[in-house]
Amino acid sequence: MASSFDFDVLVVGSGLAGLTAALHLAPTHRVAVLTKRAVSDGASQWAQGGIAAVLDAQDSIDAHIDDTLVAGAGLCDLPATRRVVEGAPGCIAWLRELGVPFSLEGGELHLTREGGHSRRRIVHAADATGAAVQRTLIDAARRSAGIRFFEHHTLVDLIAGGGTAYGAPVCAGAYALDESTGEVVAFHPPVTVLATGGAGRVYLHTTNPGTATGDGIAAAWRAGCRVSNMEFIQFHPTSLCHPEAQSFLISEAVRGEGGVLRLPASAGGRRFMPAHDPRAELAPRDVVARAIDAEMKKHRLDCVLLDISHQSADFLHHHFPNILARCAQYGIDITRDPIPVVPAAHYTCGGVVTDLQGRTDVAGLYAVGETACTGLHGANRLASNSLVECMVFARAAARQIADTPARTASGARPWRSASAHAADPRGIADRLDGLRRLMWERVGIVRTGGDLDDAAGRIAELRRETEALYGSARVTRDLVELRNLVQVADLIVQSARSRLESRGLHYRLDHPHPARRAAPTLLAPLGA
Ligand SMILES: Cc1cc2nc3c(=O)[nH]c(=O)nc-3n(C[C@H](O)[C@H](O)[C@H](O)COP(=O)(O)OP(=O)(O)OC[C@H]3O[C@@H](n4cnc5c(N)ncnc54)[C@H](O)[C@@H]3O)c2cc1C
Repeated sequence: MASSFDFDVLVVGSGLAGLTAALHLAPTHRVAVLTKRAVSDGASQWAQGGIAAVLDAQDSIDAHIDDTLVAGAGLCDLPATRRVVEGAPGCIAWLRELGVPFSLEGGELHLTREGGHSRRRIVHAADATGAAVQRTLIDAARRSAGIRFFEHHTLVDLIAGGGTAYGAPVCAGAYALDESTGEVVAFHPPVTVLATGGAGRVYLHTTNPGTATGDGIAAAWRAGCRVSNMEFIQFHPTSLCHPEAQSFLISEAVRGEGGVLRLPASAGGRRFMPAHDPRAELAPRDVVARAIDAEMKKHRLDCVLLDISHQSADFLHHHFPNILARCAQYGIDITRDPIPVVPAAHYTCGGVVTDLQGRTDVAGLYAVGETACTGLHGANRLASNSLVECMVFARAAARQIADTPARTASGARPWRSASAHAADPRGIADRLDGLRRLMWERVGIVRTGGDLDDAAGRIAELRRETEALYGSARVTRDLVELRNLVQVADLIVQSARSRLESRGLHYRLDHPHPARRAAPTLLAPLGA
């Protein structure tokens, strides 16, 4: 095992949450930023719509809070919501100071409006906001003397154990797989910040990048952290369905501009949304996703069709240049052909339980961004609230870390000796495919108690197999990801089984109504 490095803080993840924490800490701390692939890989880079913040004279903090609470269907935490909404304008000012080229109109920030927002409050950089933000933050971090990147380093596990006088576990750093050498290296800083993003990759169809395998959530759970609200997975109704086009989102604006959803000709070719909801294609995301899911199941389809070909070619070139170009790449001419679409897992509302400073249940361990469950999203996320949540809580965590007297880093703990044999990659890929199909079919947009019980049994079996493999084979990134996805799947299923109602993003056919009273789902690891 390679020797440990000398840093004050280890940040795992280089998305918006990780970079924000690192940049705020860098003036006073030596920060290592670990990232699984290249520094720009992650969901932040892919964010299109924008960042919600109250900046218009007609808008108010209370209105943004109310909109968030309505979306969250009774489960948002009010102090966390207030913290984010009040902190949002300051985050936008910080990004502007760093030089993010937001779209302007008449010299002022141009604000758009999205579903669920009662006012115009979405700050954006054309239709590629995340890419613009990430570019600017990565440049700033690369210029900072306090930050060192470790690309292609995969967090394998946290180093944690019982430590404090009252037995609460303490985090003493992390083990990471260095892909360039295949070796596991140890980091032993006094503070670790998990910013590893969400877990959309646990589903067959997802808009999330390949990095979103729930690694931080699974590692924190194993280290003794509670997780909350894992049953609330947001599904985007329309992602491009093509074997080579993993994860491409077809914006809601296509439906907004008159795009209609139809069955394929083999199933009758009929437009189906009006039969599901009077708002038809303009119904909220979760309603459209459920309707598509129902039609796909009824007619045993792989996808449905989204048709915008009634608009002129000029209009489509002007409004949807990105979608038009990407579809053309796969031989779909959207000026003439309908787009094959399927709903896809988009956002993990639950995650590692944190307080308003990003602290977890394990001393010295923080979680920020999509990995964390701060209570902001409740049972459903309001559009464009997640990027701002990344920044508000990463900044709060950085302040808390700076204000906390530094602990001495605990002594090194050896990584188990390397096993000579690597697990068969084909076997890992097959298990992963089986898991993602199982989650899609049994724990997807619509759930039943029977399906969840069935999924729980199969996941328990998969877990035994995967742990045996992990215990005996050489550690590879694929194996780490499989292990974490199986763990996260188990947490989603446990949470979904325990919620005997339909609320927000969690819809159960056998409990179709919301209960009179509801609380967040809270899972505690055994022994925690
Ligand atoms: C297509 C799409 C569009 C979106 N549009 C919007 C939008 O318009 N507005 C909005 O507010 N939200 C949007 N979201 C959601 C938002 O982008 C994410 O919630 C947010 O970017 C999460 O940021 P993060 O820093 O927590 O995680 P990420 O940006 O996903 O970063 C995670 C980082 O952790 C690293 N990592 C993961 N596992 C490991 C490991 N084991 N070891 C080391 N490193 C690891 C990854 O490599 C990556 O660097 C969108 C999401 C998607 C997928």
